[in-house]
Amino acid sequence: KPARRAAPSGPEPIPGVDRLVAIASGKGGVGKSTLSSNLACALAAEGRRVGLLDADVYGPSQPRMLGVTGRPASPDGKTILPMRSFDVTMMSIGLMVNEGQAVIWRGPMLMGALQQMLMQVRWGELDILLVDLPPGTGDVSMTLAQKARLDGAIIVSTPQDVALLDARKSIDMFKQLKTPIYGMVENMSTHICSNCGHEEHVFGHGGVARECETLGVPLLAEIPLHLDIRTASDAGRPIVAADPEGAQARSYRDLSRRL
Ligand code: ADP
Repeated sequence: KPARRAAPSGPEPIPGVDRLVAIASGKGGVGKSTLSSNLACALAAEGRRVGLLDADVYGPSQPRMLGVTGRPASPDGKTILPMRSFDVTMMSIGLMVNEGQAVIWRGPMLMGALQQMLMQVRWGELDILLVDLPPGTGDVSMTLAQKARLDGAIIVSTPQDVALLDARKSIDMFKQLKTPIYGMVENMSTHICSNCGHEEHVFGHGGVARECETLGVPLLAEIPLHLDIRTASDAGRPIVAADPEGAQARSYRDLSRRL
């Protein structure tokens, strides 16, 4: 288990939130959001009080992945009530804009929106709040690490060289910001054919494990590329919630036990 609050970075804790964990990636499309929602569901299934903040301003996908629609209420006009799905308390920038509408905000607006989602949402008492970050090392990630007391970051990558190269930059950014790195997750590790079970390494194999060794960070999980994971998320019910005892939920559930 990673040490709790070993060297928390940033000044401000979020009231009621015990642990704040960023889910980041260097590249887009590597499965960061899929991991975030499945991990959140897995933590909730274990009885942990879990929140998920979708801060992927350029492509917020948590409302769809967690089957959440509608606008969050603000009864007092100051604070915002989060949504709830599969026992996960969630908020997404996607619920603040219309689906299909491009978000073309400049840096300061992005930072304002992030701060609002962190501090004005009534998260309640949470054991852990996961933040699904936009890919890369942009304003949102920097702001989060600087403004909030981040307990750790999980970096998601595929085993492919181009993804690993960007993942390295992401790790470097967190190191510079003094955010503890919990470790890396290799997603789309092995493709398992849903027809015959044949295994194939579409994006290469072992790339993230090697990278972890080089960088001296733990390899937290290897998640297979499987059709059921994609279809479950597209249907608004992550595989961990749809088929908790199934083979495809296993790696997410194992990961949740390490947090
Ligand atoms: P990111 O958040 O990094 O941009 P997503 O989580 O949105 O990536 O994933 C990109 C696409 O890949 C989505 O369609 C998602 O359903 C699919 N996907 C992610 N991880 C897996 C996996 N392990 N197996 C199958 N499909 C996956």
